Amino acid sequence: MKRILIVEDSPPMGTMTKKRLEKTGKFTVTWVTNMRETGQLLATEENDAFFAALLDFNLPDATKGEVIPLVVAKNIPAIVFTAFVSEEVRQTVWSHRVVDYVLKEDVLSLEYILSLLDRLEKNAETQILVTDRDSEKLEKIANLLHVHRYDVLTAVSGSEALKILAANPKIRLVLAASEVNDMDGLSLIQQIRRNYGKEDLAIMGMVYAGDHITAARFLKYGANHCLIRQTFLPEEFYCMVRLLIENIEHIQQLRSTSLMDFLTGLHNRRYFFISGEKLFANAKRQALTLVCAMMDIDFFKKVNDEYGHEAGDRVLQHVANILRNRLRKTDIVARIGGEEFCILAVNMDTASVHRIFDELRSKIEDSVVVLEDGQGEVKITISIGIATQLGNSLDHMLKKADFHLYEAKENGRNRIASDL
Ligand code: GH3
Ligand code: MG
Ligand code: MG
Repeated sequence: MKRILIVEDSPPMGTMTKKRLEKTGKFTVTWVTNMRETGQLLATEENDAFFAALLDFNLPDATKGEVIPLVVAKNIPAIVFTAFVSEEVRQTVWSHRVVDYVLKEDVLSLEYILSLLDRLEKNAETQILVTDRDSEKLEKIANLLHVHRYDVLTAVSGSEALKILAANPKIRLVLAASEVNDMDGLSLIQQIRRNYGKEDLAIMGMVYAGDHITAARFLKYGANHCLIRQTFLPEEFYCMVRLLIENIEHIQQLRSTSLMDFLTGLHNRRYFFISGEKLFANAKRQALTLVCAMMDIDFFKKVNDEYGHEAGDRVLQHVANILRNRLRKTDIVARIGGEEFCILAVNMDTASVHRIFDELRSKIEDSVVVLEDGQGEVKITISIGIATQLGNSLDHMLKKADFHLYEAKENGRNRIASDL
């Protein structure tokens, strides 16, 4: 559980905020009501005791946001509540390097705060690369990002930036200056885009006021957005960074679900062929052994007919769990058809192949699937066909495995057959 500090003198506001945060089950709240108590509390706590703080701008003993620097000095990410946003309030708030400010009366504020906290958690895992030949400017941008807990990497030259990108595949955003030491920003963007598409990496240009040509070129050659250095507001900066990163996260999410089997959580047929081809080519090149095992549930139709389709689905999930737990992370385990699963295992010792797959078979034979709503239990068996000869293609291997699967079925089911 993460600890959140609330400094708020209004009882209804404090109670509501505390309740809402604790309802998530992710946070415990310490609530104090003025600046004096905040000072006393922080004096007794470790610097990293709090994950974040929600601070009222106007407290009985600190009416102009004086509590903010007290908390920020402890390196606690601060979100400020304020009843109104005058230009003076904005300036004060941002001068103290807070995460954000929110309007008190707005009913959506609490939900916004929750999304901010959620983001702060994710940001620690989110890498951003900042480039600029001017190290002072670099530092300034990096500091802004640190306030939001991003994992920031920096580069003063293009070659350094490209090296950092290659070594850190989790970087989601590059902030590109107009110039880096060894090239102009445009060349850097073009070089980055040769290897990283917009679905993997976002680029935000940082250009000088009046330099519309550079901004236009940046966008044309691969930047997703450009900010004007001299005039951007912190709100604008943080929102854009977040928007670009969340966009990449959504794409990655879609991509991973499009390769997953929804029912069992295993990989799907599409993933099997995309990754299987790579595994096959690699095994060929490095003369590694590759084992392809096709398995099919015996008389599965009977389960559906006797207990219904939902029971059949339960059985598929049950078999998937056993397969997942028995195999290595480097193996591909996929549901490639209705009740057909396929495994590609690299570097499995040939002498152990029969033992391993027979253990898998008997584990499934010995297990019971408990059906929902007191429908009882089902027992099932599987047949497995195994191909161990690499041959010309993955397709060829699959056909061989399928042939042996047919053999196992013909010979009485609940058994394995192979080319060994
Ligand atoms: P065999 O031992 O020869 O493999 O017999 P079988 O009954 O298992 O084989 P068959 O191929 O005739 O039947 C497979 C059945 O799998 C038919 C289909 O209704 C069912 N099936 C396919 N996909 C799903 C699914 O997603 N959920 C459920 N519940 N059933 C499915
Ligand atoms: Mg079957
Ligand atoms: Mg079948």
